[in-house]
Amino acid sequence: MFSVVVPVFNEEEVITETYKRLSGVMQGMAEPYELIFVNDGSRDKSAAIIAGFCEADKNVRLINFSRNFGHMSAITAGMEYASGDAIFIIDADLQDPPEIFPQMADKWREGYHVVYGQRKKREGETFFKKASAKIFYRFIKRMTHIEMPVDTGEFRLIDKTVNDAVKKLPEKSRYIRGLVSWVGFKQTAIMYVRNERFAGQTKYPLGKMVAFAMDAVTAFSYKPLKAATTLGFLISIASFIYIAVILFQGLFTDTTVDGWASTMGVILFTQGITMMILGLMGEYIGRIYEELKNRPVYIVQETLGFDENH
Ligand code: UDP
Ligand code: MG
Repeated sequence: MFSVVVPVFNEEEVITETYKRLSGVMQGMAEPYELIFVNDGSRDKSAAIIAGFCEADKNVRLINFSRNFGHMSAITAGMEYASGDAIFIIDADLQDPPEIFPQMADKWREGYHVVYGQRKKREGETFFKKASAKIFYRFIKRMTHIEMPVDTGEFRLIDKTVNDAVKKLPEKSRYIRGLVSWVGFKQTAIMYVRNERFAGQTKYPLGKMVAFAMDAVTAFSYKPLKAATTLGFLISIASFIYIAVILFQGLFTDTTVDGWASTMGVILFTQGITMMILGLMGEYIGRIYEELKNRPVYIVQETLGFDENH
């Protein structure tokens, strides 16, 4: 059996089309399947529309969260509820074409455990989004020791064994594509063109994008902290040299050592760096605090369409 996990947040304009396209593709694959829509606290009619599909179609399931927990939490829930031998993950907005599912399934039958979609091109997105995404994927790759493919989101097929491995990872910070890379297994890519949204607006405004990038970096790397150490070291060396120079000037020459302006400059500069590094440490400490509280990643209000196992 195949499972399809679809995170949904205020997608009433696209969800019917998504359901149709996904159903069409899945029916063509001649295997039993389930479509799991995870409604991440939508404030529009998404939940009611999906509940309608559930009534008419026994392949459809709905998980309703008690509030908005975020894209990664929604996918996490879908992965936990999925019972397929292979699980497809796809956004609700049809930016990624479900029509390549059969190709992904072929690779899976060849023995690959993860088949991820890699974007060779992005269409209909702003220059800023494309540029920031490009920088983001390359930055993350440099920041971690794990083999993380660039230009790859959550759009992919994962084998049940991979799903089970990822489900066992206890952390609350769910940067899914990172976790899937981390567990290993045989992974391969299929190139595709990322289209524009079928309808509706992006649910990732700038603030959320920055928070997402911070989560990704802190979850997989403490290189920023190491960089802070290196920076501190460099500044110390520079100041030792500077002190040696002014001592020399004061003791052995007639030059008057300059006064306030340079002192203030140095103080402000080092204070700025110190505060920045304190903030950076705070980012990590805050995340330790989040993990330690051990709260669930999401809360389910109700489910529809699952059998008694759930
Ligand atoms: N999404 C979600 N919860 C959120 C934000 C987004 O479940 O808090 C879903 C959204 O409905 C979509 C997917 O995550 O299916 C990706 O969001 P979007 O397409 O807005 O992001 P973008 O493609 O613009 O980065
Ligand atoms: Mg999108």
